[in-house]
Amino acid sequence: MSTLRFEAIKQTFNRKPVKVDEPPRRSEIFATNVFNEDVMRQFLTKEAFQNVKDAIETGAKISRGVSDHISTGMKEWAISKGVTHYTHWFQPLTGTTAEKHDAFFETVGPTSAIEKFGGGQLVQQEPDASSFPSGGIRNTFEARGYTAWDPTSPAFIWGTTLCIPTVFVSYTGEALDYKTPLLRALQAVDNAATKVAKYFDKNVTKVHATLGWEQEYFLIDSALANTRPDLQLAGRTLLGHSPAKGQQLDDHYFGSIPTRVLSFMKDLEIECMKLGIPVKTRHNEVAPNQFELAPIFEEANLAVDHNSLLMDVMSKVAERHDFKVLFHEKPFAGINGSGKHNNWSLSTDTGTNLLGPGSTPMKSLQFLTFFINTIKAVHDNEELLRAAIASASNDYRLGANEAPPAIISTFIGSQLTKVLDELEKVTDGKLSPQEKTDLKLNVVGKIPEILLDNTDRNRTSPFAFTGNKFEFRAVGSTANCANPMTVLNTIVAKQLKDFKKEVDELIKGKKMKKDDAIFNVLREYIKKSKKIRFEGDGYGEAWEKEAKKRGLSNNRSTPEALRALVSKKTIDLYKEMGVMNKIEIEARHDIELEEYSMRIQIEGRILGDIARNHVIPTAIRYQNLLIENVEGLKHIYNEGFKEHSREQLDIIEKISAHIAKINSKVNEMIEARKVANKIEDPEKRALSYCNDVKPFFDEIRYHSDKLELMVDDELWPLTKYRELLFTR
Ligand code: ADP
Ligand code: MG
Repeated sequence: MSTLRFEAIKQTFNRKPVKVDEPPRRSEIFATNVFNEDVMRQFLTKEAFQNVKDAIETGAKISRGVSDHISTGMKEWAISKGVTHYTHWFQPLTGTTAEKHDAFFETVGPTSAIEKFGGGQLVQQEPDASSFPSGGIRNTFEARGYTAWDPTSPAFIWGTTLCIPTVFVSYTGEALDYKTPLLRALQAVDNAATKVAKYFDKNVTKVHATLGWEQEYFLIDSALANTRPDLQLAGRTLLGHSPAKGQQLDDHYFGSIPTRVLSFMKDLEIECMKLGIPVKTRHNEVAPNQFELAPIFEEANLAVDHNSLLMDVMSKVAERHDFKVLFHEKPFAGINGSGKHNNWSLSTDTGTNLLGPGSTPMKSLQFLTFFINTIKAVHDNEELLRAAIASASNDYRLGANEAPPAIISTFIGSQLTKVLDELEKVTDGKLSPQEKTDLKLNVVGKIPEILLDNTDRNRTSPFAFTGNKFEFRAVGSTANCANPMTVLNTIVAKQLKDFKKEVDELIKGKKMKKDDAIFNVLREYIKKSKKIRFEGDGYGEAWEKEAKKRGLSNNRSTPEALRALVSKKTIDLYKEMGVMNKIEIEARHDIELEEYSMRIQIEGRILGDIARNHVIPTAIRYQNLLIENVEGLKHIYNEGFKEHSREQLDIIEKISAHIAKINSKVNEMIEARKVANKIEDPEKRALSYCNDVKPFFDEIRYHSDKLELMVDDELWPLTKYRELLFTR
């Protein structure tokens, strides 16, 4: 009998929901572990406080003297809350967060000690993180990178550690993390968008990008998850037959949340509250044991940090509830995968959402300006957007019979489509007073109502407009949002910069009025970007054909998709917008390709091991039982045994055939891996993993899943889909 699996199942039967003490009001604990403005006022001198505020608002430098004050204040606050260590918290290109804890404690002589945390330790640290991927940057330049405080994201306490959000850069200034390019992109979009927003409101001095992510995940009982080497090591199942009941009935979606899960969610939300992560909604998702969590949107940099932090917090809180969180985009074949929708907009320091409905025709023209420019930016850079969400794990979701596809398109709804159709007809050149009045009354003026009544929704578009924001839905559930946010904000920044230039040229050169010029430029953009707009069902063969006709890219695999990252167009774009230089871009390309190859390599190894060590021996054991049975029948019936053992013999032969296939395919896969490993060029190696190694996964799986259906359930060692997905 397969002891481990049944032991684990037994354990899950005895689980009780963990009791969680809820505070009477969530607002009372909100951000109590965050070094925010209120706390700063209390723990910092006036001068230090002002310096931090300036740093946040205008990017002003923090002087050495002041940083000593800030670090002392931070330390006092942290110690008052039981903190013993501090860490520079950063987001290396491995996709997780990194930290190295140091104690405040320092000796000041042989027998005495103090708690110390100086400005130098706050502002700059050498983490000796020499094993994080850097794509050769650090080797080429300096031996080490350093981390430096990002004052736009407040320090926080997690456990007994003070965490200081930092950037991670080489000594020559090249970004080694996700945050640095993001901050540069946010700066670029602020510059460009502020200038355009000033057409409509002179008082605007700053525009920030906003991000509201929605995190999807699976929760699996930890005892069950621990029985599966594939879940433990690859975060997804590499084998397993679909259960008789999957998600066909749609009974999980928005159904009542199971009690054990609910207490996990409460616990998690309380932790999030303390950390200042404004989580708001929770519900079941489409697949069994799949859930979603979403916060109130925030300034993009902070939202990115909060998402990274959340994923870490989730895993730790889940342990307390005997759950394992699966963030993987496709942990179960044949079952809905997980994404991380990135809701994005731009917001001014005067409190206007630039993609929200306006109260006057002028404000509505402002909306149209940002709306159409975003569509144009997506149109011009669809391949780069696709590259921003490419990963080995997201490949199992994008375009794999599940929305969204690997093709980037935008959905805006029929009403806004009508508006754009109208605007396309605007006169070339100066508009007559009559036309302008008509436009303002009947087209632009109607926009607020259209947006408020935005009932027409589409769930399959990778980039949909949803009333007051765009929703980038193709982002994977494991992704660090910084990557897609860097790309999106950079391309919109570039687009707005070009727009401003074109409008100004019409105003100056052609002596046009401002709104005439804006209408003229927008009209051209609508025409030029038409092919990116798609209102239909965003996946399936029909759309793939249509997209091909339109000339849209359909890069199904990560190595293909990543090419856009190093194209001349991208390099020029990043250079112009000050987001990344060529060295940084190429380093990232190498790192992502390397990561891809490594993931497929690891999956291949795990699959080979499970197939050989679990599946084949189990199948043989069952086959032996059948053989014993046949021998017994022969003993009783002599020649007549054939009639009684026909089916057994048939199964015996089928088992042999599946075993033979599995064994030979594993051998072939190993050979293919050897070939791939010898390839020096990172792109060619990744392509080889993609095209020559990965196809074996499905073949091996097919035969193993067939065996799962044949072999005695008592013998099968791998916890089955129905147990993983329906045990609560
Ligand atoms: P739904 O799309 O389910 O109707 P909402 O409209 O409330 O839900 O938004 C979903 C997500 O979009 C939430 O995470 C929310 O914080 C985020 N969101 C709403 N407005 C904005 C905005 N202006 N900028 C960025 N994200 C936003
Ligand atoms: Mg959504």
